[in-house]
Amino acid sequence: MWFTDHMLFHYQRCRRRVYLDSYGDTTLKDPPSDYFVKLREDSAEHRTAMLAQFKPLQRPVFERNNWEAGANATYQMMADGVETIYRGVLTAQGPGDVRYRSEPDVLVKRAGESWLGDWYYVPYNVKLGKKPKPEYQLVAAFAAYVLAEVQGVWPETAWLLLKEKQYAVTLGRYVPKLQDALDDCLEAQSGVLTAANPPEVFISRSRCDMCPWLGHCYQEAKAQNHLSLLPGVTKKRYPTLVEMGITTVEALASAQPSHLAYSLDVEQMVTEKMIFQAQANWTEKAIARLHKSRFPLTPSDVPTTDIELYFDIEAAPDKDLIYLHGVLVVNNRTQEETFHALVAEAPEHEETAWFEFLALVDSYPNAPIYHFCPYEAQTVSRLSELYGDGGVNIDHLLNRFVDIHKRVVEAVALPVESYALKHLARWMGFEWRDEDANGAQSICWYDDWLTTGDRTYLDTILRYNEDDCQATYRVKDWLVKFAQPFWQ
Ligand code: SF4
Repeated sequence: MWFTDHMLFHYQRCRRRVYLDSYGDTTLKDPPSDYFVKLREDSAEHRTAMLAQFKPLQRPVFERNNWEAGANATYQMMADGVETIYRGVLTAQGPGDVRYRSEPDVLVKRAGESWLGDWYYVPYNVKLGKKPKPEYQLVAAFAAYVLAEVQGVWPETAWLLLKEKQYAVTLGRYVPKLQDALDDCLEAQSGVLTAANPPEVFISRSRCDMCPWLGHCYQEAKAQNHLSLLPGVTKKRYPTLVEMGITTVEALASAQPSHLAYSLDVEQMVTEKMIFQAQANWTEKAIARLHKSRFPLTPSDVPTTDIELYFDIEAAPDKDLIYLHGVLVVNNRTQEETFHALVAEAPEHEETAWFEFLALVDSYPNAPIYHFCPYEAQTVSRLSELYGDGGVNIDHLLNRFVDIHKRVVEAVALPVESYALKHLARWMGFEWRDEDANGAQSICWYDDWLTTGDRTYLDTILRYNEDDCQATYRVKDWLVKFAQPFWQ
């Protein structure tokens, strides 16, 4: 069996992924999303740009998938002292019948003693990320390890070519982690890859979102009513809950907050929140997070005024660009709703869209500006520093901002799997007109608009953004209605 860079990369993110990638039924995998394809293309573009500095690159020639032939061809190039080798194949013996295989993006020749002669090689891997994530470093350490087996000497480091910098991996730190990972994966019988069954499912949105097994794992988690579907049950907290015999939503719903806080080594308010959450999911009802018998919000925390604004931004982080400020103006006196899309139809129009946004919100000087999560407020601060305030008092403007997500989380536990806008608003009965629309898809549509000029893409983004504003309005409306009995 081959053990590869790819497997190690995914192991660092999720042990179960390594098992499913090796033994899972591939027909159960989700098709790649447009956003995933875009990231793959961006990554290939970045790789091409980064590798230009190593030209001329030479690549080993071998029959496709004949990895031992690839390793022999690479070794021959190394023995011949080729300066830079692109996607060389390095192999080494692992435990039992396992063979390690690493394919660093580039091997660069350096002066120094090795089995090859008075030179040796150093591995470079190109990554699209800005930061040297642990999974990148682990894979780089693996390349260094397999390379050391091939050339008889360790390189002094393994390099990562990141989006904005070149990073030297500290092998002294990562090789022990690598050893632990290899042991955990390959240990006879109880290793991830030698066990009879996959590791337990654990849905964690940040880790699972881009995983092709998400649909399959989510179904399994749903079938088990798995605790990981409960907001607040993190990967770190879960093993302690299991040790305490708390493996079901019902058991967590009736746990003692102080006991739980002691075992989890967190503040009691954290465990109270978890228990409220379990109770909401168990009873399928919204539960007010009363504090000393009082509702935690006052009417001024969720102001209802003649005019209210609902604001949502669309951004393309890969271009460092804000391409849309969407504002829904709700007139509670006339019951009119008007959506304004301040859009940068080309990236260079970002500044114009910013000033149009400022002019719009300034024309309703007393209206609260509802948004979901801190991103909108942070972006307004950033753009004011970048382009100026257009005569608008930004501190005053930001004082009008109301983060409705924060208000909901403070005040109520809802029977949802996540407090993301989609989950909340859907639970409240709101539906988006385009079922598949989301922030990542919107980035792809904006790219499509730029490359094709087809207005359908832009219109779809505007519709999605308007729906996000409408959803934010729905959440605010629901929260105020929920709070009314507590305010009387
Ligand atoms: S969906 Fe999540 S739990 Fe399942 S394999 Fe992927 S990362 Fe792991």
